[in-house]
Amino acid sequence: MMHVSWSHLIFIPMLFNLLVISICWLYYSWRISPWRQGPYRDRIYRCSICEHVYVDARGVPLSRCPRCGCLNEPVKV
Ligand SMILES: [Zn+2]
Repeated sequence: MMHVSWSHLIFIPMLFNLLVISICWLYYSWRISPWRQGPYRDRIYRCSICEHVYVDARGVPLSRCPRCGCLNEPVKV
């Protein structure tokens, strides 16, 4: 008969849960990382001064207008 101690009964499920949480954390960190290229990172901006509409792939909260240099927030869809 196989002998299993109480510490193994607690440690092995806890290690498995920690592994699952770590994998989820790595996956979601990779999804939102700025190094990952994807269409969801592109944001549409509309300049409040010159009305120029442009796309910034960096996904920053404030983007500088390429025409006049004014800082703008992304357009909420
Ligand atoms: Zn502008």
